[in-house]
Amino acid sequence: MISERTCEICNCKKIKRSNQKRCKDCLPFYNAANRAFTRCELKEYEDWKIKSQIIKAQKKEKKLSVIEKKGLLNKKQKEELKICRKRIRMGFLTRRDMALHIKYLYYRQERRCIYTKVEMQIAGFKGLNFSVERIEVKGRYDINNVSLCLDIVNKMKNKLTNEKEFFEMCMYVITNYIKKKVEDGTYTKNDIRSYLVSSILKHIN
Ligand SMILES: [Zn+2]
Repeated sequence: MISERTCEICNCKKIKRSNQKRCKDCLPFYNAANRAFTRCELKEYEDWKIKSQIIKAQKKEKKLSVIEKKGLLNKKQKEELKICRKRIRMGFLTRRDMALHIKYLYYRQERRCIYTKVEMQIAGFKGLNFSVERIEVKGRYDINNVSLCLDIVNKMKNKLTNEKEFFEMCMYVITNYIKKKVEDGTYTKNDIRSYLVSSILKHIN
């Protein structure tokens, strides 16, 4: 008998191939989480030590919980237990945890970049896809410090990106803006033509 398997992220889509663990929809979110985890393992960021901290906290929590059950916790241990539990609750222990959170954020942000409000794609143009962003750049990839923004914005935030990617993003922003204006009847296509030509020519001698 073939056992039915479901995606480990969404827990609902059925998986057909036996060597797969995630469905097509969840895979990009898993890959993003995986990249962030890899950065952690490679210690690219010194302060990215959350994984080992959580594992440590879990071990300690287990130990202290036994003492707690016996009612033998002292004041210091009580405080430690509180911190351990908070740390376990807050962080991502596995790539799966993080992927799930990223997917959740993607829809909570209504697919929009946290900075530009431009719609983020999952597997579209390079630079226009979502990327995992640390709100506080020096901070960790923990649950309170993670949001999603356009890949290109993330790159711009960290370092300069190439001109072509940047141009493509600007075009995307303008196109979306104009599309809305035409759809709601503010402008006609002819208005747009003369508007674009005149506004570009204004800056060219
Ligand atoms: Zn899934």
